[in-house]
Amino acid sequence: MEIILELKNVTKTFGGIKAVDNVSISFTKGGITGLIGPNGAGKTTIFNLISGLYKPDTGEIYFKGIRIDQLPPHKIAQLGIGRLFQDIRVFNKLTVLENVLIAIPNQVGEKFYEGVFLRKKLIQTEQKNIFLAEQLLEFVNLIDKKNVLAENLSYGQQKLLSIARLLAMGSELLLLDEPTAGVHPALIKSILELIKSLSAMGKTIIFIEHNINVVLEIADWVYLLDEGKIAAFGEPDEVLHDEVTKEVYLGV
Ligand code: ATP
Repeated sequence: MEIILELKNVTKTFGGIKAVDNVSISFTKGGITGLIGPNGAGKTTIFNLISGLYKPDTGEIYFKGIRIDQLPPHKIAQLGIGRLFQDIRVFNKLTVLENVLIAIPNQVGEKFYEGVFLRKKLIQTEQKNIFLAEQLLEFVNLIDKKNVLAENLSYGQQKLLSIARLLAMGSELLLLDEPTAGVHPALIKSILELIKSLSAMGKTIIFIEHNINVVLEIADWVYLLDEGKIAAFGEPDEVLHDEVTKEVYLGV
């Protein structure tokens, strides 16, 4: 099994609080891993460390063998780590298709000279990008909405659009923060199916989740965090029925 992301003895403190306490985790390519645990367990801090918003106090993080823990967030995103935030970040006043188009990197038009002198190349690239964007919209089941302004999508549809944008950016590892929270039940199934298809395509998924049913349905592996430490790890069934889990969640 190929390891795509590795946290080695990572610690992050805030004041006196160890938000993440000497955590080591290896994530395999194509796997779906759930991070669970009570409020304040350190789940979001782990996402912030992986995506470069926070630097660890000690420890190292490797993505595809490259050390990333000292890199700025945009570099980490360029390497292929994409993050879906709970507060959806789409461009409301752009159409669904435009939202995906502007996520595609290295657009020819970004370079002034090429835009002026290589018009033919620009048009070809635009057509190629439109084709790619439409394929991604088919994949997330939003192709019928391609000309709709993003602000007119439901919250769940905006999450699907955000996932299409991450794919357009070339993300290979997706960090999903409660992917189904606040989503209309009719769309939850689509989101879960999409996550499974992404994994089948070789994308690696790490998600934070409070809904145990979602964890049971899609996760290959689960980490239970408590006070910044890994309290339990294993397959979902195993971890969710574990005595430690019951203790951490229910205090029994
Ligand atoms: P939740 O499920 O509520 O989102 P979580 O498991 O994601 O919780 P974190 O947000 O990672 O938990 O927080 C872990 C600890 O670190 C908490 O005690 C939190 O107050 C603290 N913490 C996180 N970020 C900061 C920060 N920027 N400044 C100070 N303390 C922080």
